[in-house]
Amino acid sequence: MNAEIIAIGSELLLGETIDTNSAFLARQLTSIGINLFRKTVVGDNQGRIVATINEAMDRADLLICTGGLGPTVDDMTRPAVATATGRPLEFHQHLLEQIEARFRSFGRTMSPSNRQQAYVPQGARIVENPRGTAPSFIVEDERATVVVLPGVPSEMRYLWENAILPYLRDERGQTSVILVKTLHAAGQGESVIGEMVADLMAQDNPTLGISAKRAQYELRIGAKANSREEAEAMVAQTEAIIRERLGQYLIGSERLDEVAVQLLKDHGMTVALWEGDSRAPVYHTLMTAAGGPGVLAGSITEPTREPLNDDAIAARAREGAIFARDHFGSSLGVGVQPAGTPGSDNFTQVTVALAHADGVHEWTRGYDLNIEDNWQFVGTTALDGIRTYL
Ligand code: AMP
Ligand code: MG
Repeated sequence: MNAEIIAIGSELLLGETIDTNSAFLARQLTSIGINLFRKTVVGDNQGRIVATINEAMDRADLLICTGGLGPTVDDMTRPAVATATGRPLEFHQHLLEQIEARFRSFGRTMSPSNRQQAYVPQGARIVENPRGTAPSFIVEDERATVVVLPGVPSEMRYLWENAILPYLRDERGQTSVILVKTLHAAGQGESVIGEMVADLMAQDNPTLGISAKRAQYELRIGAKANSREEAEAMVAQTEAIIRERLGQYLIGSERLDEVAVQLLKDHGMTVALWEGDSRAPVYHTLMTAAGGPGVLAGSITEPTREPLNDDAIAARAREGAIFARDHFGSSLGVGVQPAGTPGSDNFTQVTVALAHADGVHEWTRGYDLNIEDNWQFVGTTALDGIRTYL
C-alpha cells in the first residue's frame, strides 16, 4: 500500500506553524509497513486542495489528510474531499447532536457555523471524535482511500491511534512491519562514510540512508518484513556489515556525546577544558550532552586576537590541555586553538589536544569557522578524540 500525506492550512504553508502532524504520520505509516511516497502542504484554498487531493489519488492507494475540518470559512477540507471524490456532502443529524452535546458539556451553546461539521461526503465512514468537535471520516474511493483527520495535533494523534490504525490493521490487512534502526558515526566526512556503504544505500530492502546532524552522521537502516523477528534479523545483518566496514568511525546506537560521557563515567574520569576562542565549542557540546556537566571538572576560555603561526597554535592547544587538567585536577584535559582570526579567510583550521595519563596527543582539522554552525564540528572532534582514546 502506497501512501501520501496532505497537510492543509495556510499557517503551515507559510511557516507560521510547524507541520508536526506530517512528521508524526510519516513515522506511524512507516512503522506499520506502508510505503510513504510524498508529503504535501497546501494552503486554505479550495481549488488547490481539490487539485492536490486529485493528483495524489491518481498516484497513491491511501491519502492521509489533516487540518481544515474546523467551523470557520477557511476550513474547506470537507467540501474539497467531496469534490475530489465526486460525492455530495450529506448532513448527519446524529453528528450535529454530538457536536451540540460537546458544547453543552462545556456549558456553551453551539454556534450556527459548527453545523457544517455535521456534513461528510456521501458514503464516507464516519470516525467520531470524542476529543473535539470535528468528526473525521474515511472515503473509500475506487482511486484511493482518503482518510481525513483534524489538524489539532492531540486530536489527530488520538484518532489515528484509536480509529485509523485499527482500521488499517483489521480492515485493510496492513500487518507488515518496517523496523528502523539508527546508528551513529563520526570522524570522517559524509562522502567518505557514504562511499563505504554505497552498495547498501542502493538496495531496496533493507534500505540505508545517511544524514548529517550536529556534525555527526546518522545511518538509518530500514527493513520491511511480515514479522518483527524477520525485520530484526534483516536489520542485524546490515548492521554487522556496516560495523565491519566503518570500524572505528562507527559509534553505535547512541550518539557520540552520550557515548563519550558514558565512557568517562565508566572509567571514573573527568575532563577539563581550555579553549582559545570565546565560542568555547567543546564546553557547549559537553554542557548540552546528557550527563555532560557531571564529567566536566572545569573550563577556561582564553581567546587570542593575535595571528599565530602553526607552532604557536599547536603549542597553545597542547599547553592549554595540560594546564586545564593540572589546574582542575581532572583525569583528562582538552585544549582547543583555532588558527587565524574571526572574519579572515584563513579562519579554517583548529588544533585540538588531549592530555591524558600517557602524554598529550593533538590533531588538526579544517572547517570554515566563520560559519557559526561549523563550531559544532569542533565539539564533535574533541569528544570523538576522548571516545577513541578511552
Ligand atoms: P485546523 O484543523 O486547520 O482548524 O487547525 C486546528 C489547529 O491545529 C490550528 O492551531 C492549526 O495551526 C493546528 N494544525 C493544523 N494542522 C497542523 C499540522 N499539520 N501540524 C501541526 N499543527 C497543525
Ligand atoms: Mg486550518
